[in-house]
Amino acid sequence: MKQSKKKKFNFFSTEYLILSLAITLTMVAFLATISLDYLNFKKGQVHYLGWNKIQVHMVALASRPAKSPAEEFSLADYLRHELKEAGLAENRLSLSLEENGNFQAFLELDEQEFKKIKPQLLSNLKKKKVKTKLSETKTDAGKVLVTIQMKPPQGPGGQLLLSYRIPVELARPSATPEKPSPGVPPITVAIKTQKKVAVVIDDMGNDLDFLQELINLEVPLTVAVLPNALYASQTAQLAQEKGLEVIVHLPLEALNGQASYTGADGIIRASMSKEEIRSILERDLSILPQAVGLNNHMGSRATADSYLMEVILDFLKEKNLFFLDSKTTSRSIAYDLAIQKKIPALSRNVFLDADDNRHQIKERLSELLRYALKNGQAVGIGHPFPETLEALRSYKMEAERLGLEPVKLSSLLQ
Ligand SMILES: [Zn+2]
Repeated sequence: MKQSKKKKFNFFSTEYLILSLAITLTMVAFLATISLDYLNFKKGQVHYLGWNKIQVHMVALASRPAKSPAEEFSLADYLRHELKEAGLAENRLSLSLEENGNFQAFLELDEQEFKKIKPQLLSNLKKKKVKTKLSETKTDAGKVLVTIQMKPPQGPGGQLLLSYRIPVELARPSATPEKPSPGVPPITVAIKTQKKVAVVIDDMGNDLDFLQELINLEVPLTVAVLPNALYASQTAQLAQEKGLEVIVHLPLEALNGQASYTGADGIIRASMSKEEIRSILERDLSILPQAVGLNNHMGSRATADSYLMEVILDFLKEKNLFFLDSKTTSRSIAYDLAIQKKIPALSRNVFLDADDNRHQIKERLSELLRYALKNGQAVGIGHPFPETLEALRSYKMEAERLGLEPVKLSSLLQ
């Protein structure tokens, strides 16, 4: 048998023409997809590639003055190095770059870490000729926030927000009686005439019957309405008419990408541009003009992202709205950032009906009341579940029995 001869490749063969045509078409389609995505980004519409992030990096690179490698000094890198030296895990620092090349960094510490790190950091920054400016705020929630503005001799600067909890304030109820430690001055919080407690019902807007049930309770409550819910505007209108308080329940990107989760329409993602985020917020407010504040729906990713939270919080400041951090992640920086920006803010203390303990709502409710007794005020968040409604029937009576005043959320801000 004759062995098959190696076929000579013919550039003019039909196979070759078809193949090259296919490759060309694929490339054209690919480039067109990218271009369309970019155009969508430019027009402020939904896009899938992180154009705004790319833009931020480009701007940051362009604004960095040309330097010889020898004098290159990155304050952000230096900060990371310092914290590593102090024995902190790298992932504790959340750091984000702003458009002008400056950075924003957040670090939550316990008191001991804070006492060790703050002086060490300041003296080392001084050695590096970095100018620093400090400001300190004490919050009602028992936190101390220290902002350190940093400006190196050359290159972009940054801002580090350190926060730590005052341990006495937030100790969980325990068997050991509290006694003031000698030498430590007692912590002064604003003295309130009466201790208060507020309950917020999230995820509202899809069930007007449930709203009516809440109204029937005749208790001061705050309802957080999803702007894209079926009956969003009716819910807000009726709630306000019947004396309930309305806030926007803003869907924010979660870490596990729960895009299809109920109420995730109109979700704000960390990859969006400032313009996109602001236009979503404007639209949400036009649906819910009764809103006096805003809290996050999901958002375990977004509330840890300082770029995104800055855009949202600046918007709230402009519109005179307060912020409630639902605290869907312990890594949320949103509350601290709001306080730093002098935006009235609160943080959720107790979830009444998180999935795994929906049958322990009564217990959660008493936990909320105990928290309010101990700290002067507390914020609980519940959801439109029948079990939650049941538990709320005794909420007012229980609170008043303990000398607590059930209030709308905004009353906790005074
Ligand atoms: Zn929610």
